[in-house]
Amino acid sequence: MRGAEEGGPAPEGPNGLGQKVGRRRLKQALARTQRDHPAAGATLLIYHRVGGGTHDELDVPTPQFERHLELLERHEVVPLDMALDRLDAGGVRPSVVLTFDDGVDDVHAHAWPLLRARRLPFTVYLASAYVDRSMVWEGSTRQGSAGHGMSWSQLSEMLGSGLCTVGNHTHRHVRPEHLTEDEVDACTDAVQRHLGVTPTHFTYPWGIPVPDMEPALRARFRSVSTGLLGRNLPEADRARLARVPVRQSDPESFYSAKLVGRLGPERAYAGVVRFGKAAGLRG
Ligand SMILES: [Zn+2]
Repeated sequence: MRGAEEGGPAPEGPNGLGQKVGRRRLKQALARTQRDHPAAGATLLIYHRVGGGTHDELDVPTPQFERHLELLERHEVVPLDMALDRLDAGGVRPSVVLTFDDGVDDVHAHAWPLLRARRLPFTVYLASAYVDRSMVWEGSTRQGSAGHGMSWSQLSEMLGSGLCTVGNHTHRHVRPEHLTEDEVDACTDAVQRHLGVTPTHFTYPWGIPVPDMEPALRARFRSVSTGLLGRNLPEADRARLARVPVRQSDPESFYSAKLVGRLGPERAYAGVVRFGKAAGLRG
């Protein structure tokens, strides 16, 4: 809801107080309009760790994550497949999809109870070689101790709730130049063997698209997401879905801006971060 009917001034009183109240209401309404109007299409948020206790930008403290869920109450959080169903039908109704890359066990310990209590759907993109193991790969320990992968039984528990979608994030979280069909299929095989489901969604390690792999990925998955910043409208290439990263250092206003599709600040920030990433890969 937005527009003139919401922003209209209140009736003016005889002593001017009404006018003052009216202006205040108008400003509040305008601020609300700017702040709360959800962006068209599907916004896929990228989380990695929750409450892991590190200084890693990709490790969101649990109270911060809980606040995110409060802010999400004003948005429609849908499963990835539902967001894609809507896009396939040409719909632009705003939606938010929660995605968690890698499959770190602090997500099960800290995020999952909060998601379960609120019945919020989410996707875990799993790097299957690290199930119940230390998640050590290039850059993963730079800002503190490495995460530990969730166990198959933890994944099974989340899957059984009907809230969790398990996606493919390769088996060993390989660098873009080492991404092969075998690497992708090893993850799918492991998920099928241990969880009895076939992943229909994929996300690239570090979010870096590998154009040579696109035909193979299109043949295997309904969607392929990336770390490319943006929202997804019906015309979005299903093999290059854009996402929006969430960082430990995001102030609440910054996070809220991401939810309503104001990605300018994030774009500027990501540009700065890119320089720092040039020497190595993260996430
Ligand atoms: Zn990853």
